[in-house]
Amino acid sequence: MIQENLKRIMATIPEGVTLLAVSKTKPECDIMEAYEFGVRDFGENKVQEMTRKHEALPKDIRWHLIGHLQTNKVKYIASYVHLVHSVDSLKLLQEINKEAQKCNRVISCLLQFHTASEETKFGLLQDEAVQILESESYKQMQNVQICGVMGMATNTDSADLIHQEFKHLKSIFDFLKTNYFSDNQNFKTISMGMSQDYPIAIEEGSTIVRVGSSIFGERDYSKQS
Ligand SMILES: *Cc1c(COP(=O)(O)O)cnc(C)c1O
Repeated sequence: MIQENLKRIMATIPEGVTLLAVSKTKPECDIMEAYEFGVRDFGENKVQEMTRKHEALPKDIRWHLIGHLQTNKVKYIASYVHLVHSVDSLKLLQEINKEAQKCNRVISCLLQFHTASEETKFGLLQDEAVQILESESYKQMQNVQICGVMGMATNTDSADLIHQEFKHLKSIFDFLKTNYFSDNQNFKTISMGMSQDYPIAIEEGSTIVRVGSSIFGERDYSKQS
């Protein structure tokens, strides 16, 4: 089932767009099924769960942290995380930089933006990102690399609204690229699109789609470990 789903979804994803398989709440055997199909990028939203899976599963898996990250948990993932999608404060970026330094790594990060019109707790506004990028503290950081932006659209049936919100995130990306990263080849990632809206996200310029339930089936949170 998982491999059939992957086959169907991969056929709709153009070259240059990465499929991130969101495996949160799903068992290791499900991840291995996707792994055997060739998937190497997996997304998790909980530090403890991701770390447990990282320890148990093949070491060439690239683990993406896509959920809210508390500063006191950065130390558990700093040695292995591939990309943190959810940086939403200077304080968090400082902590990632500090822990990355201890591991002698440069950790790739995305700035998460609040783009949905519905109430969500997390994500920056463009001005807040500017404040981070212009801070002395950020300019001193040697162990983080900001590679792009991440955002979520409103959970709605309105394709128009979803288009609008993804266009907005793309415009933030373009603004930051022009003003802060014009000579930085690493700033190139737009993480947007989930099971329900990833085709629209791709139309609007996504470079990473985060797809969970369309690959692995609906999640049962009552069984989450
Ligand atoms: C769970 C989650 C996804 C995947 O959602 P699906 O609807 O299952 O595809 C994508 N992004 C984030 C941030 C998530 O938390």
